[in-house]
Amino acid sequence: MFYAAPPDHRERTRYYSQYRDIRRMGKIVFDNHYARLPERFYSPQEPVPVPEPGAVRLNLPLAEDLGIDIEWLACEAGTAMLAGNYLPEGAEPIATAYAGHQFGGFNPQLGDGRAVLLGEIQARNGRRYDLQLKGSGPTPYSRGGDGRSPLGPVLREYILCEAMHRLDVPTTRALAAVTTGERVVREDVLPGAVLTRVASSHIRIGTFQYFAARKDTEALHLLTEHVIARHYPELDDRENRIAALLDAVVARQAQLIAKWQTLGFIHGVMNTDNMLISGETIDYGPCAFMDEFNPEQVYSSIDHGGRYAYRNQPGIAHWNLSCLANSLIPILHNDREQAIALAQSALDGFPDLFLEANAQGTARKLGLRTIDPSDVPLVDDLWQLMAEQRLDFTLTFRRLADLADETNRSGTVAELFEFPDVLQPWLDRWRERVAQESTSAADRQAAMYDANPVFIPRNHLVEAAIAAATNTGDFGVFHQLVDLLESPTPYASELRYFATPPRPDEIVRQTFCGT
Ligand code: AMP
Ligand code: MG
Repeated sequence: MFYAAPPDHRERTRYYSQYRDIRRMGKIVFDNHYARLPERFYSPQEPVPVPEPGAVRLNLPLAEDLGIDIEWLACEAGTAMLAGNYLPEGAEPIATAYAGHQFGGFNPQLGDGRAVLLGEIQARNGRRYDLQLKGSGPTPYSRGGDGRSPLGPVLREYILCEAMHRLDVPTTRALAAVTTGERVVREDVLPGAVLTRVASSHIRIGTFQYFAARKDTEALHLLTEHVIARHYPELDDRENRIAALLDAVVARQAQLIAKWQTLGFIHGVMNTDNMLISGETIDYGPCAFMDEFNPEQVYSSIDHGGRYAYRNQPGIAHWNLSCLANSLIPILHNDREQAIALAQSALDGFPDLFLEANAQGTARKLGLRTIDPSDVPLVDDLWQLMAEQRLDFTLTFRRLADLADETNRSGTVAELFEFPDVLQPWLDRWRERVAQESTSAADRQAAMYDANPVFIPRNHLVEAAIAAATNTGDFGVFHQLVDLLESPTPYASELRYFATPPRPDEIVRQTFCGT
């Protein structure tokens, strides 16, 4: 049985001691660096225990990669840790401070309002990862919020981020989802839950903005050194390390956004506090994969002006990077003019880096080695036809992969999608173009299947999984979806339900932060 730990420190130590034996067995080796930075970077903050922790799903393969004892994680003490009811030895829980532009308006004081960083662990690959509990109770940055999370957003993040990982997109990961036995009050009264998030780090563009807004140059230097050591050690011997860091972050963001665009992924809330310096996708609040292609598509209920529409994502990333560059100007160079020139030159690199990454991704989707200048009309015409015909983003490319080798009739999605007649002239042009490639049709098809998933976390499937769990406590739909999305590219007809676009009455038109 687990009870909410009493707030008194002595009492709490006694409360934790019930796990002592198991604790020894399942030791997690923490190696915390962020907590070594000065106290103005964060507030020490323990997670607030919950009445009744219940494991919904543990990501055991990820736990193994992280070197966490999976038997321990799966036992009561493991669940207690994931709910914030038990602090393993070596954890130094903190809520980090950051600022951010939200929908273009600057907020100098944000911070982890409903999350606590337990510490950093060294994974088997030698890299360090943050272990963070999200939904773990109020912090000094909660701004009146309760610091809790309903079950829905926790399941949504679990499904989406793990799907993104399988789709080869840099992303934060989900180590676990646990229920709390507590109710959280939003528009409805909902079951509460905690997500354990794993990230290369939680340092955001907004973290730099936080110190820049305070004219805290010393902190900017410390943060920059921390980031280079953690994420960009290869820049260590560069002459201007800070300019090199800015260039590197620009390049990683360009790569990331290109991945989103080639999958029809709409982040939905590209505020500068939701852009990680590591180049991983973070914040799965209102995000969504498109069904029908529409470059203007927006799902988030709070994005009234369409600021974060699909087609705007590259431009917004560029704008966000300009906020980072601005924050770095005080430390980029002793001479302000030169600092500005360095910042500008880094930013000016973004469009080409993005276009190149995007062209590479698009080439893979179309079965081409490269997109040559003469291919641009072919590519542009496809996007235009897809938009005019409102074709399903995912199935369009998947069906194209089927057509790459028409002698192979197994595993096609013809039962779900067929190109309308108006696309036949375009398909002929495409066939002519791929015929010039040196690859065989079979190889080309295999590569295209790889680049064009058939299973994505479609909104209506995600909503169905959340509804079943929230309304009836049935987690089967959620588990089935997470399992399925572990293999997004091989298709079998038995799984057609998961590849089928929503019926008109199933279409999800809006998503909500729901925090
Ligand atoms: P988000 O849009 O989810 O990234 O959150 C923006 C800000 O609101 C962050 O500073 C969060 O920490 C804070 N926040 C969101 N939800 C809650 C909550 N339930 N309790 C306290 N703070 C919250
Ligand atoms: Mg956020």
